[in-house]
Amino acid sequence: MGVVNKMRNGRVIVAGSPIDNVGMDGAVRYAETMIEEGQQCTILAVNPEKVIAARETPELHACLNSAGLLIADGIGMILAARLHGLNFKERVPGSELMPRLCEMAAENGHSVFLYGAKEGVNKQAAEKLAQQYPGLVIAGRQDGYVAKEGMSALVDKINASGAKLLFVALGSPRQEYWITEHKSELSPLVIQGVGGTFDVISGSVKRAPKLWRAIHLEWLYRLLSQPQRFLRQTRLPAFVWLVLCDRMGLVKI
Ligand code: UDP
Repeated sequence: MGVVNKMRNGRVIVAGSPIDNVGMDGAVRYAETMIEEGQQCTILAVNPEKVIAARETPELHACLNSAGLLIADGIGMILAARLHGLNFKERVPGSELMPRLCEMAAENGHSVFLYGAKEGVNKQAAEKLAQQYPGLVIAGRQDGYVAKEGMSALVDKINASGAKLLFVALGSPRQEYWITEHKSELSPLVIQGVGGTFDVISGSVKRAPKLWRAIHLEWLYRLLSQPQRFLRQTRLPAFVWLVLCDRMGLVKI
C-alpha cells in the first residue's frame, strides 16, 4: 500500500495512518451535525509523532481507525499529503478546534465537560472558557489523575452532567485509549482528545507567538520551551524518512 491511499468518504491514508481531509469549518460543522442527529462521534488528532507511534503500537492504530473524525494536527501531515498529490484543505490543530467547538456549543446551548490536566489547570481552563464564550455552560469537570478504580464513578459523573461535548486532555496516547475504551458507556455526543490544550487555555503553557505559527515552526517553539519533549520529537526524523522512503517506493506501509 502506498503512503497515500484513497479510502471511502474522503478519508485517506497518509504515511500509513488514516486521516480526514477536512478544514476547521468542516470539523465544526461535522460536530454540530452529529449533535443535531443525536449521534456520537469521537475526534482525534493525527500528527507525525502519532503516526510513528501507531506504526509501533497496533492498539493505537486501532484507536485512530475507529475515530469518527481524524484531524490533521500539524504541518507535517499536510506536507506529507501534498507530497503525494493530495490537496489537504488546511491544518486543524486540536487546540484551535476545541475553542471553536466551545463557541458552537455556547451558540447552540450545548453544555461541555472538561476531563484532564492538573486540578488547577482544569479549573482555570474552565473559568477562561466561560469568560471567553458568554453563555457557555461547563456542566462538569474533572482533573486527569483519576485512579482506575474511580473510572466507573467518573463515567457516571460525566453522564449525569448532561454535557453534550466532552474534552479529554490526558496527553497521547493515554487519551486515545481512554476514549476508545469508554465511549460506548458515555452519553456526550462529541468527544474530542485535546492533549495539552487545557494547559494552553489556562495560560500555564504558552503557545508559540503568531510569527512562529505562521511559518509552521510551532513544534520547534514547543521543543525549545519544553525541552522535556525532546524524546517525543525524536519521532519527527523517523516520520520524514518514512514519508520519503514510501514516496520513492522503498518501503511497504
Ligand atoms: N495528563 C493527565 N493525566 C495523566 C497524564 C497527563 O491529565 O495521567 C495531562 C497533563 O497534565 C497535561 C496533558 O495531559 O495537561 C498532557 O499534555 P501534552 O502536552 O503532553 O499532550 P500532547 O498534546 O502532547 O499529547
